Amino acid sequence: MFVQRYLFFVWLCMVSANFSEFFFASTPTTPAVQKPAWGFHAHQQINRLAVFSLPAEMMPFFKRHIDFLTDNAVNPDRRRVAVVGEAPRHFIDLDDYADTSATTLPRFYKDAVTRYGEDTLAARGIVPWHIQLAKYQLTEAFRTRNVRQILRIAADLGHYIADANVPLHTTRNYNGQLTNQHGIHGFWESRLPELYSGKFDFLVGPATYIESPQKEAWRAVFRAHAALDSVLVFERDLTKEMGDTRKFGFEERNGVTTKVYSETFSRQYHERLRGQVERQMRASVKMVGDFWYTCWVDAGQPDMRQLARQELTETDKNEEAAEQQSWLKRLLRVRAEN
Ligand SMILES: [Zn+2]
Repeated sequence: MFVQRYLFFVWLCMVSANFSEFFFASTPTTPAVQKPAWGFHAHQQINRLAVFSLPAEMMPFFKRHIDFLTDNAVNPDRRRVAVVGEAPRHFIDLDDYADTSATTLPRFYKDAVTRYGEDTLAARGIVPWHIQLAKYQLTEAFRTRNVRQILRIAADLGHYIADANVPLHTTRNYNGQLTNQHGIHGFWESRLPELYSGKFDFLVGPATYIESPQKEAWRAVFRAHAALDSVLVFERDLTKEMGDTRKFGFEERNGVTTKVYSETFSRQYHERLRGQVERQMRASVKMVGDFWYTCWVDAGQPDMRQLARQELTETDKNEEAAEQQSWLKRLLRVRAEN
């Protein structure tokens, strides 16, 4: 199952490589194969927009590095096949637990390990626990005023939070493979934002302090899971009504004719969801800003103007580039082997 899931995301990388040239003037210049799937540009949008919810004291630093936070919003997906232990951080199969009510699933990773063991947790995904760890790490990075770490962890944390808000990241039926709805993952998190997010309202207001990041992470996954039923049922009903010939169409992407969910099918599905994709994206933007802000406050509100003036050292830059290169190499090796 693990292998299947890895391969699925490798596939998603390839599919969404075609969807990536949107929205931002600062589109990275990395090769297409490195661009994974929220969808690639949804992750970028979420990190970018979250910056604008931050208070004036944090703004000089985050504005200065907004392109880094945007471009690196998908690093965790780039790593997921290449780095051991990365894949489970992006999801949680809540329906693999007999009782997923808010009161019974251990809220803290240590307690969860005691009850289920690490292997089971890894197989079922750990996103709400990992958000808590990344929150702690970002607070430490602010506390030690480590510019490179602040940027890397803030970008990563934004990614995990966004994933936690995707209904299909909270189920073992993550690509509709158990209900004959193959492809629904990319449809919901890439195709719909690609078609409609230009009209979404992303004004989320100023970031607010989170009293309990642990509770907030869990609230997000349970809220996303509650939306799962509509994601699957509406797609199934609409498929019955429209039939496969109207469901799919062909579009030219990078010179290649590609089978896609048709615009008519996408629009009708989107209308039935009544703004669900927009709601979940907005919730992600708000939550990312709130977490970044909370980490900064918990670290004693370091002077971000001063940190904004610091340049990344050459060593930092070289290490960053070398690391990305090594993910790519490993990713290509995995793909070649399969
Ligand atoms: Zn992810």
